[in-house]
Amino acid sequence: MPASPASSRPVCPRCLRPLATCLCALARPTPHRTEVLVLQHPQEQRQAKNSVALLRLSLARCEVVVGERFDDAALRALLHRPGWETRLLYPDVPAAPAPAASHAAPMAPVRLVVIDATWRKSLRLLLEHPLLAALPRLSLDAPAPTRYRVIRAARRADQVSTLEATVQALAALEGQSFDGAPLLDAFGSFVAAVAARQRSRTEAEPG
Ligand SMILES: [Zn+2]
Repeated sequence: MPASPASSRPVCPRCLRPLATCLCALARPTPHRTEVLVLQHPQEQRQAKNSVALLRLSLARCEVVVGERFDDAALRALLHRPGWETRLLYPDVPAAPAPAASHAAPMAPVRLVVIDATWRKSLRLLLEHPLLAALPRLSLDAPAPTRYRVIRAARRADQVSTLEATVQALAALEGQSFDGAPLLDAFGSFVAAVAARQRSRTEAEPG
């Protein structure tokens, strides 16, 4: 389906989505200490069902940078901030083993780098950017079941949305002081709304 010209559809000035799918009412301001940097694949940016927009609206310290190729200098500047320890939210997998120092507990507040892409594209991003592959990792031991399954059935069963993975990582880093439950509930409502739109579209199309 060709994209309609942006000017023909009213857009929400805050979340920059069409008013019909504005996310602002779902945002849940969630206090957190960790800085979050999302490296988002361009394909994800265009997905109406992507979870990062809601994450960004709800976290005060969440920066989203879109791209699939980053030059070293620009990437280094994004990854490292004085006074912060950078961690990459990514599993230790045979295709991209975590560096040896990965398991040391952070001694400073964490700048958490999250890749928002399909599994294959996130792996490629990692393999093509040694600066990313060299970062100490944060791996989620047992990802909670995703609320996402309804709308992205093609994803692996153990793969959660970027929003859910980030919320779990913040809980692991910040402990009791972090409460991600309201944001996860809001994400559940978002998934239900997307699923309802998908169903009504299917019913509206003959055959
Ligand atoms: Zn909005």
